[in-house]
Amino acid sequence: MDNFSDKSGVFVNPSELERQRKFTELVKTVLTARFGNEPKAFVHTYGCQGNVSDSERIKGQLRNMGYTFVLSPEEADLVLFNTCAVREHAEDRVFGNVGALKPLKEKKRDMIIVLCGCMMQQKHISERIKKSYPYVNLVFGTFAVHKLPEMLYTVLSRSKRVFEISASDGLIAEGLPTERDSGAKAWLPIMYGCDNFCSYCVVPLVRGRERSRLPEDIINEAKELIAGGAKEITLLGQNVNSYGKNPDCGVNFARLLRRINDIDGDFIIRFMTSHPKDCTHELLDAMADCEKVAKHLHLPVQSGCDRILKEMNRKYTRAQYLDLIRYAREKMPDLSITGDIIVGFPGETYEEFLETVSLIKEVRYTSLFTFIYSKREGTKAAKMPDPVPYAEKSKWFRELCAVQEETAGKRTASMVGKIYRVLTEPNETEGKLTGRTEGNITIEFDGPKKLIGQFVNVRVTDALTWVLFGELAE
Ligand code: SAH
Ligand code: SF4
Repeated sequence: MDNFSDKSGVFVNPSELERQRKFTELVKTVLTARFGNEPKAFVHTYGCQGNVSDSERIKGQLRNMGYTFVLSPEEADLVLFNTCAVREHAEDRVFGNVGALKPLKEKKRDMIIVLCGCMMQQKHISERIKKSYPYVNLVFGTFAVHKLPEMLYTVLSRSKRVFEISASDGLIAEGLPTERDSGAKAWLPIMYGCDNFCSYCVVPLVRGRERSRLPEDIINEAKELIAGGAKEITLLGQNVNSYGKNPDCGVNFARLLRRINDIDGDFIIRFMTSHPKDCTHELLDAMADCEKVAKHLHLPVQSGCDRILKEMNRKYTRAQYLDLIRYAREKMPDLSITGDIIVGFPGETYEEFLETVSLIKEVRYTSLFTFIYSKREGTKAAKMPDPVPYAEKSKWFRELCAVQEETAGKRTASMVGKIYRVLTEPNETEGKLTGRTEGNITIEFDGPKKLIGQFVNVRVTDALTWVLFGELAE
């Protein structure tokens, strides 16, 4: 493994991780002297499951440095925001929330404020933080997660602000400690970065080049998770369908799925996100064959119009996408399909938008994540003329959502009376529990808390557009 790591240039050198372990001990000593035994950290995560998974590794490192976790910034000695850059709205929220920390920091001078993640990896953002938010102590990008102990030590021991956003293609740091948020549901990253450069998307700019973890590392982690009580494992990557190319692992995603499916135990496998251009029949066959793989495919189409797909650099056509859906449904008649749509890409006309509407009617998605195009600095689309006003795009957006609501409502209504096996999750209302069907539709039902983390059968008794209600069944 060591030889392999050095040759591939994809993995963080183990000696670097050893160095960081030494800094972990140093931070612990400083913290004990300053706060007593239990300094408290508040960690908040914005954005996708990739960020949630990074935060689990950030929290694992903080835990090893001696931190315990609290639920509000007011109780914390360290506040960390792991940020998202995918749309402007996400960034605005972060600025708002960082601004709200100022009075807190004025009251509690030795509180440490840390910002990290995709948004910070962008130079114009970290410059803005440097200039306009002087009370932020540490800013680091997506490539520096494993250096947290060293960065924090510099902040603590030298009372110095640290900005670590050096550009990099990105490396994989194996073996970082992980603090998991939920026992039964686990996130398992299989790859990082993205090489697709969809013209609207900032992810390849802030997450570096596509790189895959080795199959053995993934399988070992999956086995550990299952042995530790995990009942649902979600494999994560920006484009899981191209798993295994860098470094060449000799195992593609279809084969990886089969190997995880072969692990003993009662658990369910989910994955996201699939890119249509790399979604092969081999993968769909593997999904159909593997009894532990949820029959749910999240396959973002973004647009139903060939000209827009080309401008987006998505590398498939509407017809190719629909062919895939047809094949997938032939193989898995109960397959639940979800997707992502962007409304109002630069230069899109109303007629082109209507092609997306016709596509979503044809596919009959279970649900959709629908976004109005958001201009991202540094992307190709940011330079394209974008004449349609936001108010007009919002109208199109509502039109599309109304069509999707009708499809979703019909689907949930048709589920009433049927029984589904779901993994029980907590629900905020006393006496209530939540679960999700294989197809990823939420069901609420009554039941005791002791069922949380177990599979149960639930009979659907009632349905709204996006949620089902049910009762425990035999
Ligand atoms: N890698 C995944 C998705 C990552 S981002 C994929 O390719 O499917 C999640 C979703 O955010 C995208 O599918 C897209 O619909 C949306 N998105 C990304 N950039 C956007 C932008 N600039 N404006 C609006 N939506 C965007
Ligand atoms: Fe962004 Fe496209 Fe990569 Fe998804 S595949 S992360 S949309 S560039």
